[in-house]
Amino acid sequence: MTALEPVIGLEIHVQLATETKMFCGCRLSFGDEPNSHICPVCLGHPGVLPNVNEQAIVYALMIGEALGCEIAERSTFHRKNYFYPDLPKGYQISQYDHPIAVDGRLGDVRVHRAHLEEDAAKLSHKGASGRIHGSGASVVDFNRGGTPLVEIVSEPDIRSAAQAREWAQLLRATLASLGVSDCNMEEGSLRVDGNVSLRPAGSDELGTKTELKNMNSFRFLERGIEAEIERQRELIESGQEVEQETLHFHPDDGSLTPMRSKEYAHDYRYFPEPDLVPVVPTAEMREAARAALPELPAARKERYLTELDLPEATAASLAFQPELGGFFEDALAANSDATPRAIANWVTGDLVAALREQDLGEDPYRSKAEPREIAALAAMVEGKQVSHSAGKQILAKLAAEGGTAAGVVESEGLAQISDDSEIDAMIDAAIESEPEAADQVRSGNEKAIGRIVGAAMKNSQGRIDGGLAREKILERLG
Ligand SMILES: [Zn+2]
Repeated sequence: MTALEPVIGLEIHVQLATETKMFCGCRLSFGDEPNSHICPVCLGHPGVLPNVNEQAIVYALMIGEALGCEIAERSTFHRKNYFYPDLPKGYQISQYDHPIAVDGRLGDVRVHRAHLEEDAAKLSHKGASGRIHGSGASVVDFNRGGTPLVEIVSEPDIRSAAQAREWAQLLRATLASLGVSDCNMEEGSLRVDGNVSLRPAGSDELGTKTELKNMNSFRFLERGIEAEIERQRELIESGQEVEQETLHFHPDDGSLTPMRSKEYAHDYRYFPEPDLVPVVPTAEMREAARAALPELPAARKERYLTELDLPEATAASLAFQPELGGFFEDALAANSDATPRAIANWVTGDLVAALREQDLGEDPYRSKAEPREIAALAAMVEGKQVSHSAGKQILAKLAAEGGTAAGVVESEGLAQISDDSEIDAMIDAAIESEPEAADQVRSGNEKAIGRIVGAAMKNSQGRIDGGLAREKILERLG
């Protein structure tokens, strides 16, 4: 059997951070008293007329420009009809055959389209069963109803779960840099759905695809797509067929279950929204959107590579993770004694590991470490005031408890030993404690030196510079 190749496309809904809703003057809010930001328009009362939010248009234009899309000279709104309690009008106003932006590209994935629409309200299921027809109840909070959204649809150019995660991260970083959304996946202001199918490698045809929902972190996105690729692979390899359906990913056990039928009813009977005029952006609006673009993550990565000489992977993780990149920029600005490369290594290496250990997600600002102290630490290690392994201890302490790098050096007694006779005594002791390794080094096997260096570092609690220790040991052993 020919190998099977995954074909993946992503659909991203991003909530725009406008002051007010898409078609009325209600304020946007997260976490406010339920149903405190509502009016006849977003409640779908009869006879009311929607009004387009101009800020949402501006943001959509910025997104279109940032994704290298063609901006439509004229885009229109449609009604997407379906019945569900979170949709008081019985339809969602969206864009259908004339979206505001088409044919873009971000990194190595083409963007099919980006269009404007409004969000549905928030439905919560309460009570024992958690089901609408069970013993519990369902309640609707209309605060979110009518929030402006941009839906971005990629072409199916993605070939692995890891690539899907990387691209979604790049997209999120790009949107975050524009300031058009807070892009918070946990709170649902950035929602990523995946379309997955398999086909024989090298084929141009597309297999039957499934749609994956509820992947509310990048890790879940990667895991969900991975699980679906495996599920489809097993079906196909055992001669069964993949059914076109919408699946819900359960992060706890990694399983995928079909959604209730209403949620994949595709007969929406789109028809033109008669109450809204087409969006016709003026030349000035488009020029303003282009001018408002900041340095985008892809360009930022390029700058890190060429101007700061960072390694490829480090540049990508700083440029594509806005919080990490922001922290790095702050550290860089705070201390010019350390090289950018050293600061970048501490931020993407030990600081990220500390975040993981403390379960703080991907945002270094949630740790106790201050950017300028990480930079100070990098400078101390580079200036050989403390050893690299002492640096690791200092960073862990800063991340857990805060304070200054100098303060931790002082309180933990981590300053590099600079007294020559003290260093020599420790080197001698290390050689004596590893007689076998010493003999091997004497007879020309330089690799054995690692154990002696290790002993010296251990005895000095990391207060000797590893490079210096190595030099001195070699000197002694000829
Ligand atoms: Zn309203």
